[in-house]
Amino acid sequence: MLEGSTIHSDGWKAYDGLILNGYDLYRVFHSENEFARRKCHVNGIENVQTLFAWSFAKFNGCDSDKFVIHLMECEWRYNHRNKDLYKKEKMKKLKAFSTILIFAFGFFVVGCESTKNYGYKGKHPDYLVLVNKMHPISVDYAKSLDLVTVDTVYDDETAEIEKATYEAYLSLQSALEKQGIEIGIDSAYRSVEYQEQIMLDFTEKYGEEYARNTVAVPGTSEHHTGLAIDIVPKVNGEWKWENEDMMQLPELFSRIHKELPNHGFILRLLKGKEKITGYSYEPWHIRYVGSVEVAQEITDSGLVLEEYLEEFK
Ligand SMILES: [Zn+2]
Repeated sequence: MLEGSTIHSDGWKAYDGLILNGYDLYRVFHSENEFARRKCHVNGIENVQTLFAWSFAKFNGCDSDKFVIHLMECEWRYNHRNKDLYKKEKMKKLKAFSTILIFAFGFFVVGCESTKNYGYKGKHPDYLVLVNKMHPISVDYAKSLDLVTVDTVYDDETAEIEKATYEAYLSLQSALEKQGIEIGIDSAYRSVEYQEQIMLDFTEKYGEEYARNTVAVPGTSEHHTGLAIDIVPKVNGEWKWENEDMMQLPELFSRIHKELPNHGFILRLLKGKEKITGYSYEPWHIRYVGSVEVAQEITDSGLVLEEYLEEFK
């Protein structure tokens, strides 16, 4: 690294000495629940780092002489992460890019397969958008959202939710009602600022570790899409909105989950897939994927959205 460079880092002890070596050091201390300190903000670079580590792990590493070319591919993919790289019409561009790389460097570049095209045109949001710890929401995404304001299970609170998602939810709600199951909405769309507040509240209430495992880092919550809903069941006339209470209702939730794909929803955070989704199992967190057919296909496959998109890319 060039002498006199400006470095943004987290609070890891090993970085303490950098300042003595003539670098300008700006730090964020995650252990003190900091995500940004004035101009210093390292979440972006940490997302990139995780993404790159994943890419390399997939190929069990690579030869050192090919490292740079792989790194460039990762960088290109990251910079284009909000575009659908795998749609057929985009394939030509990607293949052209791969060809340039192959000719320029004479190295092997991982090819890309074509995919099923489930994208939506026009003003609809991309109902298969992937938002997780490694795929933060794009700044532009919210612009494509048509949000409606709806009632929640709390008397004094409303929620916002994507329009088609809400219509699908009403259909789910009424189908469940016919089976004697009543559900309501705890939470749906959340802005990035609101997610920051939730993180602080959970850290205060349950401690930092629990908050980190349960609450998404602002920008990486699926609730930013407007397509995710946390539902709450009513049992014996009472809304069971505490997470601990809902975990005690596996049979009721299993009946609810069976009905989800019939209305275009999937259960998003499955048991046993915690390492892939990055979150613990949440029976209440459902996600609209745009159509009954796609929801059915994902549910039948037993895959989580990350795996499904990977498989059909
Ligand atoms: Zn949720």
